[in-house]
Amino acid sequence: MKYKRILLKLSGEALMGNRQYGIDNDRLKEYAAEIKKVVDKGCQVAIVIGGGNIFRGLAGAAKGMDRVQGDYMGMLATVINGMALQGALEDAGIFTRLQSAIEMDKVAEPFIKRKATRHLEKGRVVIFGAGTGNPYFTTDTAATLRAIEIGADVILKGTRVDGIYDSDPEKNDDAVKFNSLTFDEVYEKGLKVMDMTAFTLSHENNLPIIVFDMNKEGNLLKIVEGENIGTLVNV
Ligand code: UDP
Repeated sequence: MKYKRILLKLSGEALMGNRQYGIDNDRLKEYAAEIKKVVDKGCQVAIVIGGGNIFRGLAGAAKGMDRVQGDYMGMLATVINGMALQGALEDAGIFTRLQSAIEMDKVAEPFIKRKATRHLEKGRVVIFGAGTGNPYFTTDTAATLRAIEIGADVILKGTRVDGIYDSDPEKNDDAVKFNSLTFDEVYEKGLKVMDMTAFTLSHENNLPIIVFDMNKEGNLLKIVEGENIGTLVNV
């Protein structure tokens, strides 16, 4: 196994499956099955999920809502998604813990780094909810921050696209995919991998990022085993 401890970042929208809003149960089951494959190989898995399928602070602000209020709503949305994924993982026979950056002790442990790493060592999947716990950040930043804190080998950004392209492959048939990039190349080419706060945090802490298609069966395991699918961003 190439990566022994991973931080998997899933967007909230990915949980919608083919729906327009909310959580698709089949998609949850598929993701749980994919995650089980790597857990069964002994890989330590931490997960951050977004909340975009339920609420985004920026979208609320665009309609006149207070941004900070909206951001907290977005963070709570990530806890709902985290609970949904936790349920699906446990149904698949995986031990899990949900840790939240906003304390809510009836449904989640508070985020405590040492506890999180202990859970990982024991083979439990740890889901980090409520983002960073601060407004004006994203779950990409939360994923990067947690990955660095727990000493993950890599952050795996699961998307519906199979890597980073020179232009949007969903709009441009001639888009060319990169197999690997350095952090500097991403800046130079103006490519969008994660938001700048998250990307810079990864860069400054030498945390490699792999962007890959999470919706293709077997991909997560292939990456953990070192197969060169997706796009790797590294120093
Ligand atoms: N959010 C926040 N601070 C954080 C992480 C998230 O305020 O540290 C809020 C923000 O409003 C964001 C929403 O939670 O829009 C959902 O997260 P995100 O947009 O990153 O989800 P994704 O796009 O991955 O589904």
